[in-house]
Amino acid sequence: MSVLNLTAVSLGKKIQAGELSAVEATQEVLAQVERVEKDVHSYVSYDGEAALKRAKEVQQLIDEKKLTHPLAGVPVAIKDNMCTKGVTTTCSSKILSNFVPPYSSTAVEKLEAAGAIMIGKTNMDEFAMGSTTETSAYGITRNPWNLDHVPGGSSGGSCAAVAANEAIYALGSDTGGSIRQPSSFCGVTGIKPTYGTVSRFGLIAYGSSLDQIGPVAKDVRDCATILSTISGYDSKDSTSIKREDYDFNQYLGQDIKGLRIGVPKGYFKEGLDKEVADHVLSLAKTLEAQGAVVEEFDLSLVEYAIPAYYVIADAEASSNLERFDGVKYGYRAKEYNGLHDMIKKSRSQGFGPEVKRRIMLGSFVLSSGYYDAYYLKALRTKALIVKAFDEAFAKYDVILAPAAPTTAPKIGSSLADPIKMYLGDIYTISVNLAGLPGITVPVGKDKNGLPIGAQLIGNRFREDVLFKAAYAYEQTKTYEMCDLAQKGVN
Ligand code: GLN
Repeated sequence: MSVLNLTAVSLGKKIQAGELSAVEATQEVLAQVERVEKDVHSYVSYDGEAALKRAKEVQQLIDEKKLTHPLAGVPVAIKDNMCTKGVTTTCSSKILSNFVPPYSSTAVEKLEAAGAIMIGKTNMDEFAMGSTTETSAYGITRNPWNLDHVPGGSSGGSCAAVAANEAIYALGSDTGGSIRQPSSFCGVTGIKPTYGTVSRFGLIAYGSSLDQIGPVAKDVRDCATILSTISGYDSKDSTSIKREDYDFNQYLGQDIKGLRIGVPKGYFKEGLDKEVADHVLSLAKTLEAQGAVVEEFDLSLVEYAIPAYYVIADAEASSNLERFDGVKYGYRAKEYNGLHDMIKKSRSQGFGPEVKRRIMLGSFVLSSGYYDAYYLKALRTKALIVKAFDEAFAKYDVILAPAAPTTAPKIGSSLADPIKMYLGDIYTISVNLAGLPGITVPVGKDKNGLPIGAQLIGNRFREDVLFKAAYAYEQTKTYEMCDLAQKGVN
């Protein structure tokens, strides 16, 4: 069986058992990158030579029994907003085109300690602002299921890489849905953990109060194993949290009898594609047959989540992106007249249109005359959304929702209308505002063969319920690979 058919955990097992070497696994993945990358463009950059060198070192440690982690020797793709020591980290922006970080993000360091082999850095919307991976300064990524469609965003490169077998698993980041929505569009599994579970140290900030790193993989077990590896308290991130449970594999296979699933009525009304709705609801039926109790309820304030999110995220972004001034690192304009002109030109030339729009919007809502009217109001709305979820979780263990209102749109159709694109985040962003965990699992395909994902949302620190429910559902399905991903598989 080809390496490309395997999940991360099953590949790791074969490597530990000596059936395969880390070098062979890496070679197969690199060959697949050579075959499909020109069509998909999952990566901003990749380095086959470095990956093979690393695979040899890791294999030696495995041979010496010094590396026994389940992910040792398994090839991974990293979203290009996570700092990687000595490896260019661009955030898919021109302004960071030449940025080589002197340190790695904590999540990447933890994967490296586990013996992961990094293939490359994945494409994304510039500074993670977008829902299609079309705002990247380095070209678009295509959906491996249909190259005329977007992979979603902003972790579109990571999700496309996993779907196209250009990596066995990947890391993404999620500020308002950027793991869950592209996972849905690309037919893979992705989880955004509870805020504070994975360190944000070395993750280039977009909206600091919302950003979380999480796994993208072929199945729920992989996600549990990856999350167990990258999570943990980190004194370098002041929002990092000490949890009791970091072994998420223990929840797989637990009985779901009596699990209370809440289905927000308002989520399944107008605006949601009928095929998406039917497939998402089929997950509830499957779990009901296994003993779960499904009930509809009203999750209020849904319609206020989008404006609140875009005010808060953009406010934080405008402040976070102040540091890119052409002085300390990154792109600097070639010609300028004094310091102010240098900063102005570097930023004007270095940032793309979507990032500029957000910086302007964010600066506006934070400005003295409008702070109360917009920013403060958004924070109050956020508090009400948190309360609405708290009330829901008093009654339910898990909430079932779509990850996006449609399947992947055609390339070029979203950017023309940014407001419409923002509205597409309706099912994911309130989860970030409330700091909750959410997992997307593939549930089927639409009539055009594009994947549909369902989202399970849990209460804070209740990833246990998500893993239990998602795993129980997954046992009733088989993972489906797209034609393109099968190119190199035999
Ligand atoms: N689409 C949302 C935005 O543009 C979410 C992006 C994200 O989660 N990084 O802000």
